[in-house]
Amino acid sequence: MRTCFLLNYLSVNEGYQLKKGSVQMAKKQFKAESKRLLDLMINSIYTHKEIFLRELISNASDAIDKSYYRSLVDENVTFNRDDFYIRITPDKGKRTLTITDTGIGMTKEELEENIGTIAKSGSFQFKNENEIKDGVDIIGQFGVGFYSAFMVSDMVTVISKAFGSEEAYMWKSKGSDGYTIEPCEKKTAGTDIILKIKENTEDERYDEFLETYRIKSLVKKYSDFIKYPIKMQVKKSRLKEASETEYEDYYEDEILNSMVPIWRRNKNELKEEDYERFYQDKHFGWEKPLKYIHTSADGAISYNMILYIPSITPFDFYTKEFEKGLQLYSNGVMIMEKCADLLPDYFSFVQGLVDSPDLSLNISRELLQHDRQLKFIAKKVKEKIKSELLNMMKNEPEKYETFYKNFGRQLKYGIYSEWGQNKEILQDLIMFYSSKEKKYVSLDEYVSRMKEDQKYIYYAAGESISRIEKMPQTEMLAEKGFEILYFTDDVDEFAIKTLTEYKEKEFRSVSSGDIDLDADDKKSSEEKEQNKELFDFMKEVLSGKVKEVRASKRLKSHPVCLASEGALSIEMEKVLNMMPENPNVKAEKILELNTNHPMFSAIENAFKENKDKAKKYTNILYNQALLIEGLSIDDPVQYANDVCELMI
Ligand code: ADP
Repeated sequence: MRTCFLLNYLSVNEGYQLKKGSVQMAKKQFKAESKRLLDLMINSIYTHKEIFLRELISNASDAIDKSYYRSLVDENVTFNRDDFYIRITPDKGKRTLTITDTGIGMTKEELEENIGTIAKSGSFQFKNENEIKDGVDIIGQFGVGFYSAFMVSDMVTVISKAFGSEEAYMWKSKGSDGYTIEPCEKKTAGTDIILKIKENTEDERYDEFLETYRIKSLVKKYSDFIKYPIKMQVKKSRLKEASETEYEDYYEDEILNSMVPIWRRNKNELKEEDYERFYQDKHFGWEKPLKYIHTSADGAISYNMILYIPSITPFDFYTKEFEKGLQLYSNGVMIMEKCADLLPDYFSFVQGLVDSPDLSLNISRELLQHDRQLKFIAKKVKEKIKSELLNMMKNEPEKYETFYKNFGRQLKYGIYSEWGQNKEILQDLIMFYSSKEKKYVSLDEYVSRMKEDQKYIYYAAGESISRIEKMPQTEMLAEKGFEILYFTDDVDEFAIKTLTEYKEKEFRSVSSGDIDLDADDKKSSEEKEQNKELFDFMKEVLSGKVKEVRASKRLKSHPVCLASEGALSIEMEKVLNMMPENPNVKAEKILELNTNHPMFSAIENAFKENKDKAKKYTNILYNQALLIEGLSIDDPVQYANDVCELMI
């Protein structure tokens, strides 16, 4: 078995010599999840197998970034710019394709850690089988880069020498049955990835990946913006010396990519596809981004940036695993993979990168936080995102709705968090479903069409749009033609309480004590006097449960509802009590009765003639009001018995 491996290897890679006496080649197993992923890659029906090259080039470029960075910050390390390159070597005879880089390389441990394992962060979890059936989801979401090599190869060999190390190692695997690692010789630091290209099948022509024209076009398509030269020996033809008719072949190094990073290029030269491809190349997401933003500034502080707004919510976005941040470059050299300080939490969904020549390469993470330049750029990033979102809201409302469905919650949360200090920035970006328009509208839209006699911005909070539509509390407001905003997210009411007003108009819940319905105050105080005894009696029956019982101004056809007073609404009570720490808070509730409803005469009569009956009615009405609010009732059995008794 061992010899077989060796022979196989030597026949593929004569250029390398195994170290003598180093033939302990116990096969190691991939971790369970890596193995599943590998199986998936090997058997992939993923149509874009060609992306393996982009993945390997991108890894090579990252590795060179690291050594380049070192050459810049470490005085003891001297490099020549020419030392940094990627080379692609196809060999049709041996059916191999080799991708060589002069990057940082990997130690034995790193080979095991990085290549033998996926998802070091632990974020990788297989979703259900359907979602991963063709691997698209995985390739995109996790950027399982290296493994994609197995889509086109029977065997993958990695030869690597870590920068500053004397030893080189060879990692080799034929797929999911495991891999071997052993010492070998390699002169310079860097990595060679040798792919033994699969034989053609009926459906797939793997031969193509050894063809010069195909490799050239793949590099142009996916890796043109890689900033290090991607070299390949290309066969050329010339007239033989002293001959006018006879030609001879010769080989010459050709650089296949243009090497100008996309963010440094002129916007006018770039097409939408270029931005989309870059988005995918960088593994910002696998889908088409909803929007890209490309800007540059030259001034006291110069920068280029490309920002993306994703068109779907990342699967882990609303979890604590999600890590926000933009890639940070200093003059084309990446200094940080995810710079969190560049993005406020409320815009954490934004992906992209910033490159500035004014940032110091040597700066530590701790110092970076306080860096004046970085703060300036972060402010620009924030302003740019806001203005682009506002533009989208105005000019591409459908797109904005997609965006808002995905990330609106984050904006509303942003208003509520950090003691409301960001509300000015965010208030124009939020939207709610409108009772009138039957779609999402901005606060500005709402306020601009408020009726003259309308004092407040009305909202109703509930579980869903259909449930809110049925809320008794909205009846009279709707009848008067007032528009009501529907709050269906947990965070909505908290955000609005932080905002308190928009363009000097206060918010009012349809369930709040005072909704200014312009009712006849004289009539209502008379009614209050008239019914005082009954209401006091009912309050007594419901002792401790309601603060008051009163005639409702907001009900028209429905008999009963709950209103609330004070800072905490009934919806907020529900939300807070669902939290893990269950604070068991209670809103101040008011039981409101529709005095024009036949039910009211019934309870009035009962109150005169039979106090026990009146007591029962009171409990039933209260419980019904709770049910309408989606709150649970203390004693459902008693409630059911009370209702049944009425039926007999
Ligand atoms: P990703 O690039 O998304 O992290 P990969 O599976 O492609 O995932 O690579 C895993 C890791 O292996 C990389 O993060 C890097 O540390 C290491 N690696 C891959 N290719 C190279 C290379 N050519 N040179 C040095 N390190 C590499």
